[in-house]
Amino acid sequence: MLVDSFQRTHDYLRISVTEHCNLRCAYCMPYDGIVPAPQQSLLTDSELLRLARIFVRLGIRKIRITGGEPLVRPKIEPLCAELARIPGLEELALSTNGLLLEEKLPALWHAGVRHLNISLDSLRADRFRQLTRRTTLDRIIRAIRAAVQFRSTRGGAFDWIKLNTVVIRGVNEDELGDLIEFGAQLRQLASTDGPKIEVRFIEFMPFPNNGWDASACVTYQEMRAAIHSHYVLEEAFGDSHIAGPARRFTVQDKDISVGFITTMSDQFCGNCNRLRLTADGTLRTCLFGSSEMNLRDFLRSDASEDQVEAAIRSTLALKWEQHPSVQELIQMNSREMIAIGG
Ligand code: SAM
Ligand code: SF4
Repeated sequence: MLVDSFQRTHDYLRISVTEHCNLRCAYCMPYDGIVPAPQQSLLTDSELLRLARIFVRLGIRKIRITGGEPLVRPKIEPLCAELARIPGLEELALSTNGLLLEEKLPALWHAGVRHLNISLDSLRADRFRQLTRRTTLDRIIRAIRAAVQFRSTRGGAFDWIKLNTVVIRGVNEDELGDLIEFGAQLRQLASTDGPKIEVRFIEFMPFPNNGWDASACVTYQEMRAAIHSHYVLEEAFGDSHIAGPARRFTVQDKDISVGFITTMSDQFCGNCNRLRLTADGTLRTCLFGSSEMNLRDFLRSDASEDQVEAAIRSTLALKWEQHPSVQELIQMNSREMIAIGG
């Protein structure tokens, strides 16, 4: 098991498979882009799989593939299939902006992906363009609907479809109700044994050059108050036995849930079970920094599995108890979100 100095067991690994993206979300990707790491510094498929197998042997039970945009990585479907086959792995999830999703749905499902998180920050074309600097909202909505209705040739569906919205004051904070209604419409599109639907609202977090400002961050408490006047929310338990970070509620009469990621206003570090592996093979114990170790260099220097395991454990031992205050985070964050993998 992977247990840190504060007795937190880590069973959830988020793997970023690329720093590239086909959208330009202002809150994630700096306006001028980032200088991407040279190709040779990124993990190859076989290096990534080797590390994933070691992590699963050490107690990881859930892997989420993320990025950048994971679906731009060549041969992502066979990579997912290899990950899903690792003995001991219980859940394979993927986060995507949805742009390339529709055509890849069958291959991803057959590869073993059952949980999809799809970013959707606005239902309005003008806002979507302002936020992502692209005009592809229709294509993404089509992909979301296709994912909800997807059936394999043998009748299988996705287990969970979650929509992720970063809520920014003055930009999209007035769309919470519309997004809940959109989620409810999706639920009606799906058959009764189709995927469960969750609409998730994420507090805007500070990263280098992402335009963050304290006044732009809409807190969990504000979002709940706004929703409360129109919907009855009832506390829900985790979406799987491997906990994610969201506070979850069912929405009365809608057959969907609403989740909130409350990183800024209400830290959930005490229950943190997550580790991150960046596309260049760096193990990161917290989204906001804390301890880091480049595991790629171990693999490339022919380190044994025991040496890689020791490197993982020594990095985990340095994980902080909780992330620092917002002011400190702004000073210290060194990597852009796109280069960490959200
Ligand atoms: N490209 C994929 C996507 O957009 O879902 C996966 C990678 S993206 C970095 C993962 C998640 O991080 C997305 O849900 C995105 O909205 C979220 N994210 C990015 N920057 C953020 C920020 N500054 N604050 C809060 N969430 C952010
Ligand atoms: Fe790309 Fe996802 Fe970041 Fe948007 S949030 S720029 S889609 S990686």
